[in-house]
Amino acid sequence: MSGAALVSAPLVGVLALQGDVREHVAALTAAGARAQPVRRPAELAEVDGLVVPGGESTTMAKLAARFGMLAPLRAAVRAGLPVYGSCAGMIMLADTVLDAPADQETIGGLDVTVRRNAFGRQVDSFETEVVIAGLDGPPVHAVFIRAPWVEEAGPGVEVLGRVEGGPADGKIVAVRQGRLVATSFHPELTGDPRVHALFVELVRAARARDLSSDGAGAGVGGGGGELLRE
Ligand code: GLN
Repeated sequence: MSGAALVSAPLVGVLALQGDVREHVAALTAAGARAQPVRRPAELAEVDGLVVPGGESTTMAKLAARFGMLAPLRAAVRAGLPVYGSCAGMIMLADTVLDAPADQETIGGLDVTVRRNAFGRQVDSFETEVVIAGLDGPPVHAVFIRAPWVEEAGPGVEVLGRVEGGPADGKIVAVRQGRLVATSFHPELTGDPRVHALFVELVRAARARDLSSDGAGAGVGGGGGELLRE
């Protein structure tokens, strides 16, 4: 038995205020993690990583504030918790959001500007193939539902995927900055576990690193600046 096999599967939470929570729990389980919904600060404190699902970011942000989760979520990101945001979850992680109500709050931490509902009303929802850096095999079948795109990405942000062809040609739809990952699309809806597996690997590596640095994990990050590389 290898050393890695002695370590239990990472526990990944899914923020369960609003959105497609069940689909992410299933996708994370398929990708080898233990997964559970997270609604309260005490539940957030238990997990090794977190998924912020798709849904409606304005509603999700309001519920996060009402449930006393916004400050704990921000603190967790600053402390280096790995977080993957899909669609509305991408918006929740963004430092700057365009086409949002003026008072819309986010968790932040990801040095990007995203535009809500960016693909326009006429292409409200569409599907296409997107090549994701670091994933073996064919392009990911990406489902976009009133999706945002990344309009600007800071220097520490790695672009993982762009739309190819069509009116949105070249638009950034998958990014990573340190322990934060975000996609405009919904890999939890297509039965392809590779994007979740990429995130679960990041969670595993972050946990191993935090454990080996003897509890120093709470000091990493400083706004998500720590770059975790395989
Ligand atoms: N348009 C939604 C928002 O602004 C996101 C849509 C989604 O998550 N599928 O939050």
